[in-house]
Amino acid sequence: AALYKIDEWGAPYFAVNNSGDISVRPYGTATLPHQEIDLLKVVKKASDPDSSGGLGLPLPLLVRFPDVLRNRLENLQSAFDLAIQSQGYESHYQGVYPVKCNQDRFVVEDIVKFGSGFRFGLEAGSKPELLLAMSCLCNGSAEALLVCNGFKDAEYISLALIGRKLSLNTVIVLEQEEELDLVIEMSRKLAVRPVIGLRAKLRTKHSGHFGSTSGEKGKFGLTTTQILRVVKKLENFGMLDCLQLLHFHIGSQIPTTALLADGVGEAAQLYCELVRLGASMKVIDIGGGLGIDYDGSKSTDSDISVSYGLEEYAAAVVNAVRFVCGRKSVSHPVICSESGRAIVSHHSILIFEAVSSSHEAPPMSELSLQYFVEGLAEEARADYRNLSDAAIRGENETCLIYADQLKQRCVEQFKEGSLGIEQLAAVDVLCEFVSKATGDSDPIRTYNVNLSVFTSIPDFWGIEQLFPIVPIHKLDQRPGARGILSDLTCDSDGKIDKFIGGESSLPLHDLEGRGGYYLGMFLGGAYQEAMGGFHNLFGGPSVVRVSQSDGPHSFAVTRAVPGQSCGDVLRVMQHEPELMFELLRHRIEEFVQNNDDGMALAKGLASSFHHMPYLAAGSSSCCLTAANA
Ligand code: PLP
Repeated sequence: AALYKIDEWGAPYFAVNNSGDISVRPYGTATLPHQEIDLLKVVKKASDPDSSGGLGLPLPLLVRFPDVLRNRLENLQSAFDLAIQSQGYESHYQGVYPVKCNQDRFVVEDIVKFGSGFRFGLEAGSKPELLLAMSCLCNGSAEALLVCNGFKDAEYISLALIGRKLSLNTVIVLEQEEELDLVIEMSRKLAVRPVIGLRAKLRTKHSGHFGSTSGEKGKFGLTTTQILRVVKKLENFGMLDCLQLLHFHIGSQIPTTALLADGVGEAAQLYCELVRLGASMKVIDIGGGLGIDYDGSKSTDSDISVSYGLEEYAAAVVNAVRFVCGRKSVSHPVICSESGRAIVSHHSILIFEAVSSSHEAPPMSELSLQYFVEGLAEEARADYRNLSDAAIRGENETCLIYADQLKQRCVEQFKEGSLGIEQLAAVDVLCEFVSKATGDSDPIRTYNVNLSVFTSIPDFWGIEQLFPIVPIHKLDQRPGARGILSDLTCDSDGKIDKFIGGESSLPLHDLEGRGGYYLGMFLGGAYQEAMGGFHNLFGGPSVVRVSQSDGPHSFAVTRAVPGQSCGDVLRVMQHEPELMFELLRHRIEEFVQNNDDGMALAKGLASSFHHMPYLAAGSSSCCLTAANA
């Protein structure tokens, strides 16, 4: 556990059990020992073929723990409740979940269900997100906010207004000044009194990667001048009472509570000014930004770490609003936050398998030195003699120079056609041996993993965001190697060679045979699923939902969905799998004489459309070989 810093980034949800496997504690510190879930057992249950009681789902696999989601949500609410109570704040906290962080139906439905007791709502940033938020909140608390952010057209605004007709608490947050005209026009047409918010462009700037859109020159929100114009226009239309919410978002992963308090304080001043100008202000919405400590370092100068926890965050927010409103004698507003990352990051784990690793060079004994040397041209033979002499003298540096020279000469000769492939292979073995013997060889192995970085960890590729990656078993055995991970895509960026703690390789165990070594990517529940691409047409992973239960393994798989099939991902690119199959079936009729062979081939092809694009376990028994193709 110490080697992978699991206690630092994983507590209170992840630990190592007596079997050396990762165990999941769905209720955090409140989990009782018999409620801990052995992650390896979950993976086995999900992936083993049906015959042994498993579900036969192909890897990669996303394991979701709804109880972890519930725990995060409840802890966030309790942190604010505690701050409100201890500071004598005279209103309440009422958060929303920004669905952009993970729009999975069951994640959003769970959050609405778990949060209905404390009026937890949703935030949408586009029309489809608004549609899903509206339908999910039909089962939520009647008071839950539905915050409508993002750029809007007439249809988006109409949808939000229809929401109010349906007794959903939609708030249209103006992201651009022009949206106000549409809100006024559409609300008249639909005869609905809108509730309006505005997003302010604060001067407070968050200097990390995620804050690049904050500050006066930031991409989003209204400037002070625009805010004043909005207020004036609403007043002219007799609608100033509709303006009830002030929103800002200075970026994700706010590194310190000092910066947070600075931003919230500035927004609270704006809030008080809007009250002074006559708006019926009720809510201050502080956006997202509640951070996750991905490497457990509690450092303030990196994008992957933050120096505070939920309680410090809530205390800083409540204190900043209370202080400003107190000085201006303004009633305390409802505090809303749009925390996404902090709610969903921990609840899912991506499991993938290392299927092979780069090989050690074959032993020198396999090399017939005499045969090798005889096949060399004169200069290369001289390099070889010099190399041998340097080796006898024990001059490592000189050995490496001659080995390099020899290799270059041999490659040139191969290109000219004067050296055979056996000799070229032999020179590789010899040079590898020299590197090793002189201590110059690269000890880092490449582990090939059954995964697409572009699909499942897009932030690593796109913004170099690091996530903890750890073997989920064998943690009671010292790893024998260090490695980087190379994915299935044909892209040179499809590799993971940076890890938390500033490491450029990961301690890994030796592989025994093909596959069976499982790694987990943790804390990736936010953003990764929605942003993943289809490089090489690798689609989404299989998914299981795992709840704590009283059964023999203390868990139950309550939902299991295989990942996208080849047919599914082809459809994303406008191909029509049914037509493709028909074309191939006609070719079979045309070119395969034997009827039985033809039928078997057609069956094999059809099933390939239904299988996942990832490597199948035990690929030698594939249906195409069964058809004697
Ligand atoms: N609200 C808005 C307007 C956002 O743009 C974002 C994300 O960037 C969030 C909330 C969620 O932020 P976080 O994941 O940091 O909680």
